Amino acid sequence: MPFRISSWSQVFAYCASITTLAVLASLGFVIVVWGDLPANQIWPTVQIAGFVPLLIAAPTSLFSLAIIKTLQDTVHRVDEMIKYDAMTGHFARAHFLDMAEKDRADGGFLVLADADRFKSINDTYGHGVGDIALKYLSSMMLQVFGQYGYAGRLGGEEFAVRLPRMPQAQLRLLLAVLMSRLHVEGFEAEGHHLKPTLSFGIVEANAATPVVRLLRAADEALYEAKDRGRDQYVFAGKLDVEEGVAA
Ligand code: GH3
Ligand code: MG
Ligand code: MG
Repeated sequence: MPFRISSWSQVFAYCASITTLAVLASLGFVIVVWGDLPANQIWPTVQIAGFVPLLIAAPTSLFSLAIIKTLQDTVHRVDEMIKYDAMTGHFARAHFLDMAEKDRADGGFLVLADADRFKSINDTYGHGVGDIALKYLSSMMLQVFGQYGYAGRLGGEEFAVRLPRMPQAQLRLLLAVLMSRLHVEGFEAEGHHLKPTLSFGIVEANAATPVVRLLRAADEALYEAKDRGRDQYVFAGKLDVEEGVAA
C-alpha cells in the first residue's frame, strides 16, 4: 500500500500537519489581501483566518485519517487471514500455489506431505490431540525446511513445501533428517506420547510445467508412498516414478 497509516501517533501527526497547513494557507490569503483591508478589520480578519481552518481542518482530518487507518487495518487483517493458515502459521493453499506458480522457473522441488493414519489419532485420542499433532508436524517441517523455502497447508492434514533451486541430494538429506526426527522425538499431549509420521510425494519444478500439473504429479507420487506402506517418500519423474526410502 503506497500510503499506509500504521499507528495512531501517525494519525495525530498527519492531523497536526494538515491543520497547520490549512491555518498557514488561510493566513497566507490574509497577507495577500492585507493592503486592501481597513486598519480596524485586520486583527479580526487574522483571528477568523486562523481559527476557522483550525476548527474545520482538525476534526475533519482526524475523522478522515481515523477512517482510513481503520479500513487499512481491516484490509491488512483480512489479507493475513487469506494468506496464512491460522492453526499452523503455514501459507494457506491459494497463496502457496500462487507463489509456487510464480517461482517454478527457479527449479528445485515441490514436496507434498500427508500425515499418516491421521484419522486414527483423532479417533483414539480426540480432535484436540489431533490439532496438536498437526501443529507439531508443521513446526517440524518448518524447522527442517524453513530456511530453504516456504510451506503451505493445502487442506486437512496435507502440507506442501516449495524448495526452489535445491539439489536432489540435499533434499534427500533433509527428508532423512525430518523423518528420523519424527521417529525419535514425537510430542506429548494429554498424557500421551505420540510419534506421528508423514508420507511424501515429490516433483521437480520447472518453467514449462504449471503448478497444478506439478501438484498432480506430486499427488500421484504421494499416493504411491502411501501404497508402499507410508512413512516414506516417492519422487515423481517426468514419465517414470523413482522410489526413495529414508535411510
Ligand atoms: P492416510 O495415511 O491414508 O493419509 O490416512 P489418514 O487417516 O491420514 O487419511 P484420511 O483422509 O482417512 O483422514 C484424514 C483425517 O484428518 C480425517 C480428518 O478428520 C482429519 N483432519 C483433517 N483436518 C484436521 C484438523 O484440522 N484437525 C484434526 N484434528 N483433524 C483433521
Ligand atoms: Mg493422511
Ligand atoms: Mg490426506
